[in-house]
Amino acid sequence: MADRDVDLFVVGAGSGGVRAARIAASYGASVMVAEEYRVGGTCVIRGCVPKKLLVYASRYADDFEDAAGYGWTVAEPAFDWTKLIANKDREIARLELAYAATLERAGVKIAKSRAMLEDAHTVRLAATGESVRAKNVLIATGAAPHLGAEIAGLEHVISSNEAFHLEALPARILIQGGGYIALEFAGIFNGLGSEVTLVYRGDNILRGFDNDVREHLRSEMERRGIKIITKQTVVAVEKVEHGYCVELSDRRSFMADRVMFATGRRPNVSGVGLEAVGVKLTKNGGVAVDEFSRTSVPHIYAIGDVTNRVNLTPVAIREGHAFADTVFGGKPTAVDHANVPTAVFSEPEVGAVGLTEAQACERFAKVDIYKTSFRPMKMSLAGRDTRAFFKLVVDGETDRVLGCHIVGADAAEMIQLVTVAVKMKATKADIDATMALHPTAAEELVTMREKALSHQREAAE
Ligand SMILES: Cc1cc2nc3c(=O)[nH]c(=O)nc-3n(C[C@H](O)[C@H](O)[C@H](O)COP(=O)(O)OP(=O)(O)OC[C@H]3O[C@@H](n4cnc5c(N)ncnc54)[C@H](O)[C@@H]3O)c2cc1C
Repeated sequence: MADRDVDLFVVGAGSGGVRAARIAASYGASVMVAEEYRVGGTCVIRGCVPKKLLVYASRYADDFEDAAGYGWTVAEPAFDWTKLIANKDREIARLELAYAATLERAGVKIAKSRAMLEDAHTVRLAATGESVRAKNVLIATGAAPHLGAEIAGLEHVISSNEAFHLEALPARILIQGGGYIALEFAGIFNGLGSEVTLVYRGDNILRGFDNDVREHLRSEMERRGIKIITKQTVVAVEKVEHGYCVELSDRRSFMADRVMFATGRRPNVSGVGLEAVGVKLTKNGGVAVDEFSRTSVPHIYAIGDVTNRVNLTPVAIREGHAFADTVFGGKPTAVDHANVPTAVFSEPEVGAVGLTEAQACERFAKVDIYKTSFRPMKMSLAGRDTRAFFKLVVDGETDRVLGCHIVGADAAEMIQLVTVAVKMKATKADIDATMALHPTAAEELVTMREKALSHQREAAE
């Protein structure tokens, strides 16, 4: 016998789970959500939000330096890591309370507990042993850092989870990984004054992004003093008297005060009881779902990172909202996963939407490329040697803009707005017809007249 009955039980109060619970409750459903750690999930507690706060902190270093060229005399700046972390923690605690309050105002019952399926309609709360009978279940358990294969000394390695709570700023940090989390933390620690070494097993950082972006970002990061070692992996980490000795696959070794791996994240599918009730997984380890986020068991749904589709907060939120509209609002809603904008808050920043040059060439017969690299005006008096990069990928047959890629200050802000145009199927002619706004960096987007390249697929014999 269950201790209580609900219309919806949500496992995980992260970005997706919170939105789904709130909207389902607004349609009149009785909803309970279980959270084993902190309400708000990865994004709020140990992802996007604290990360961006640390990024902001790290960028002041350039501002202090650049101010001199603009006539300012700035006293030797001093940085206090403990103060930054305390202020960041206070803000995260405020957000956590705000999320919980929003749920409670909507009538959602929050259980501070790990939850697992006992059978297809019964969820058990580990903290109290309580059983809850649910008409519908939503799996919104997110993902967790995966440190990769077992190596000697793996117990000394931290993930992004711990990086947010270090007691002191490491003087030297070695980061393994080439994805956005690795690059963002490399930029944060570099900006705050650490000596940063980045080790990545592939040919170049930021796999999946446009090749020009990858090259541009790498050279800019190296120019800022980040040591980037590719085609190598960390094979051992040894604790020594003053830090850690890190051995690479080519037998080189490095000393570091902290070793961080950002080597990928895995969907949180284990220990939830999914297999026992017949919920199927995909080959990439996520919960398999249809376009309405329904799993192989009809009344069990899954959204967000646990489905390993597009692992970003706004996508998890949109999927959670669409689920609630579909199941409780009588409005079947599928989420469109095309043209999702994405950013890397590295230094410099990257913003991208749509297809890369390589992806466009695979899918379209004729592809035109427009690109430019320039020194932003702000850097002139600052005397800083850095270049921004803009690129448009265009369907040569229809003139439609297929992709836009930007590296440079405010790239993420710019790409959010460009996404509206790309989503509306803007053509290159529409972009050309747009008046420039001068003087800005963004005006480069509407002033790229000359094709840099044109790819034409040979017609089949
Ligand atoms: C360092 C970092 C930086 C990031 N930066 C960005 C960014 O800039 N922009 C962006 O869009 N995305 C970013 N992301 C990704 C983003 O955080 C995720 O895509 C998003 O949080 C996914 O939301 P979700 O609801 O699927 O899962 P989550 O937010 O991870 O929430 C899942 C919740 O379920 C809980 N849980 C798990 N299992 C159970 C269980 N059995 N019982 C009870 N509770 C359980 C977890 O504790 C967690 O709170 C970042 C991620 C990281 C790690």
